Amino acid sequence: MFRRSFAALVIVLAGCTSSLAEPAEEADVTVEAEQPEWRLVIHGGAGVILRENMTPEREAAYTAALETALEAGADVLRDGGSALDAVQAAVIPMENDALFNAGHGAVFTAAAEHELDASIMSGAQRDAGAVAGVKRVKNPILAARAVMDQSEHVMFAGAGADAFAESVGLDMVDNAYFDTDRRRQSLERVLRERARTDADRHGTVGAVAIDKDGNLAAATTTGGMTAKSAGRIGDSPLIGAATYAQNGVCAVSATGHGEYFIRVAVAKTICARVELAGESIGEAAQSALDQVAGLGGDGGVVVIGGHGQYEYVFNSKGMYRGMIDPDGMETAIFEQE
Ligand code: ASP
Repeated sequence: MFRRSFAALVIVLAGCTSSLAEPAEEADVTVEAEQPEWRLVIHGGAGVILRENMTPEREAAYTAALETALEAGADVLRDGGSALDAVQAAVIPMENDALFNAGHGAVFTAAAEHELDASIMSGAQRDAGAVAGVKRVKNPILAARAVMDQSEHVMFAGAGADAFAESVGLDMVDNAYFDTDRRRQSLERVLRERARTDADRHGTVGAVAIDKDGNLAAATTTGGMTAKSAGRIGDSPLIGAATYAQNGVCAVSATGHGEYFIRVAVAKTICARVELAGESIGEAAQSALDQVAGLGGDGGVVVIGGHGQYEYVFNSKGMYRGMIDPDGMETAIFEQE
């Protein structure tokens, strides 16, 4: 299980203040995190991501794509924009990048189509929007946001979700827009050896942020799992499973084997443990991921706390991830970096 916080912490002890420049392995010591002016943390999916299977070119491409997403969200936050707009802005470039399983480049269903899921949540009033099983909206996170802002509902599914997205003027595409050769080959491989591991069956993108007003937000988009049955819905569009945000408590975006994340209600469980049991975000995330592992699932989460502290926690071999705040940016891919 990987768990690490890179937050620069300020210890306040009897009036003396000292900065820890080194990464903190355990965030749950008695410290007060200095609240960053703003912060954004993203993931691009977790899974069996091993250094030995990665070419330098591919690693550089993933790093550049993570940086592009971080910059897109940071542009919003630097200008005084909201955490909600920032998580959306960070997710869109990852939806558009075939490296990730969240839009163009999404995995194929067993029926050789694409069905995408997305959700977004604002921590201020706990407003939320989600779409499941969409086939034609180019950027599912924009459809989720439109459900939140422009409907009286929280979630739309299937053809009705696409029709809603079209009715509010979002860019629509043919389902083939999401095709890539790489994902088609994955489908063929998975269909050939149904019993294989989940090594490259999944992937998802997500973001959590805190803005200058202390508002939290979270967003998650996925193509789901390779060769999933038509109509299967994972955790990604489910508020409380993959996505949750509550001001003053935490914001979570998850990635992993959705069937397990749903059953643990991972995102809400983390926030509830922080709120009700007084756990640190790291302890709470670890506990939820332990429950996922106990059921046989794998994956990870990115979490931002009510004061801007943050964690990446995953029990898979790697997770594409990164953080940006006014002091700088970091990205990582493998378990040990
Ligand atoms: N959670 C996604 C799903 O089960 C897949 C992933 O995050 O890798 O659909």
